[in-house]
Amino acid sequence: MMYRATQLTSVRLAKPAGQFLRWSSKSSINLSSSLTSYPTDHTSPNTEPYITPSFVDNQFFKSESKEWFDIHDPATNYVVSKVPQSTPQELEEAIEAAAKAFPIWKEFSVIKRQGIAFKFVQLLRENLDRIASVIVLEQGKTFVDAQGDVTRGLQVAEAAVNITNDLKGETLEVSTDMETKMIREPLGVVASICPFNFPAMVPLWSLPLILVTGNTAVIKPSERVPGAALIIAELIVKAGVPPGVLNIVHGKHDTVNKLIEDPRIKALTFVGGDKAGKYIYEKGTSLGKRVQANLGAKNHLVVLPDAPKQQFINALNGAAFGAAGQRCMAISVLVTVGKTKEWISDIVHDAKLLKTGSGFDKSSDLGPLINPGSLTKAKDIIEDSVKNGAVLALDGRDYKASEERFSKGNFLGPTILTNVKPGQRAYDEEIFAPVLSVVNVDTIDEAIELINANKYGNGVAIFTSSGSSAQYFTKRIDVGQVGVNVPIPVPLPMFSFTGSRGSFLGDLNFYGKSGITFLTKPKTITASWKSSTVDDEILKPSTSMPVQQ
Ligand code: NAD
Repeated sequence: MMYRATQLTSVRLAKPAGQFLRWSSKSSINLSSSLTSYPTDHTSPNTEPYITPSFVDNQFFKSESKEWFDIHDPATNYVVSKVPQSTPQELEEAIEAAAKAFPIWKEFSVIKRQGIAFKFVQLLRENLDRIASVIVLEQGKTFVDAQGDVTRGLQVAEAAVNITNDLKGETLEVSTDMETKMIREPLGVVASICPFNFPAMVPLWSLPLILVTGNTAVIKPSERVPGAALIIAELIVKAGVPPGVLNIVHGKHDTVNKLIEDPRIKALTFVGGDKAGKYIYEKGTSLGKRVQANLGAKNHLVVLPDAPKQQFINALNGAAFGAAGQRCMAISVLVTVGKTKEWISDIVHDAKLLKTGSGFDKSSDLGPLINPGSLTKAKDIIEDSVKNGAVLALDGRDYKASEERFSKGNFLGPTILTNVKPGQRAYDEEIFAPVLSVVNVDTIDEAIELINANKYGNGVAIFTSSGSSAQYFTKRIDVGQVGVNVPIPVPLPMFSFTGSRGSFLGDLNFYGKSGITFLTKPKTITASWKSSTVDDEILKPSTSMPVQQ
């Protein structure tokens, strides 16, 4: 079953309220999927690409931009959709809609916002397969992996409904008949800039908490995979969020620069690569905005000789090659300690069994890379590292397409390089592909030293059956998310995503308690309502500093 874009001139999800911007000139447009109609296979080369709408004031519309980017299906490289560079006017309207909606949304009681969040969770669950299918088409990952992408975001939305507990303030009678209470208030408009590799999860890392805390949002999905975010917008409307609270804009640098520079935007959340993240963090903070920025990664898995071997191999291959290595928490470096280097042939044996292919094919274990540039980059790094001493234990470059339509896809099979060392590109760079680099060391201390010298600090794992070795490791390792016999230790959203060092810029991490702190500012209110005569001896004005004893 395939879906087609339907352009309408009159259908609207909700009529913008009187105080919001006028949209009479906008060309309304329907989303190209629905709860019951969504892609289950790749499109053919002559299928007309669907238009990716923009979303402002609860209305989907076709941008008036003259500049449009092609969205390619990474498995075939056929163009499946077109996404605009939002015009300056459209960016202005989106931010203005969010700014105007803020005082209204802020006045919604927390229990009302919680009720909407409950409904949103339910709708997300109902639309899980629909969102996952659009992710497969635009991003390439396998359907089950795309379901996981949505589910990890859904879990953040589920945790957000606990806002009635999480937002409780503090109060104390600080002096007779005088109380101070501290509450946390929303900031205003928050902008989120998202990467290509988790089209649903990353927008949902921020959006549910932005909403329940009383902020409004302008989201810029990755221009390579915007489809999932648009479905999320449709569900937000159905959940009962008023116009202007969520707005979606598109594009590249011009859009990002507007979001950074506009004074109505009070905070920026960013997930993506180092270059964009550093730029956004530095420029955003220099303009007085709060910024949280999750950046690139190089995640190591250390295996000790006492590790449960098959459990380790299964975990390693899943974490290194799942999502074609395009996860910021993918294991990209295996550190074999001592004689575990002899396990490489078993790892290679099992990695060879993984099937690379279409994300719509249930038997595929990994899909293609996002674009031809990523494939070329990975191949260049493999070649360069081999020239500099690395050894190819498994070469995924010899991938053979099972069908003609996949012959132009960006496929790379699982690749394993041994004898890798710092100084080789395979170790020094984030490859973001199904390429596992193996470094051998003699002791756990050498492993710790290697990892702590790496610039990134997103995730790390150790596999061992010794509790004291695990304890020794976890206390000395300088990485934000540590797994013991767990290859991808991303905590569930009752905690926060705690990547650190070169993988994070900012002070407060995404979601969990620090996510709420990031999205709110404290306010103290001190009030005196006399009910006793204890302090009545002070009958004349005092000009000394009040100390309230
Ligand atoms: P990217 O940095 O290319 O793009 C991310 C976003 O920034 C996109 O919306 C893009 O349009 C925008 N952008 C890109 N270049 C820009 C620039 N020069 N100026 C302003 N905006 C710019 O990242 P990507 O390729 O989409 O995603 C992959 C990267 O994201 C990897 O490095 C991966 O490690 C990282 N990532 C990190 C985490 C994490 O939590 N640490 C999670 C997911 C992805």
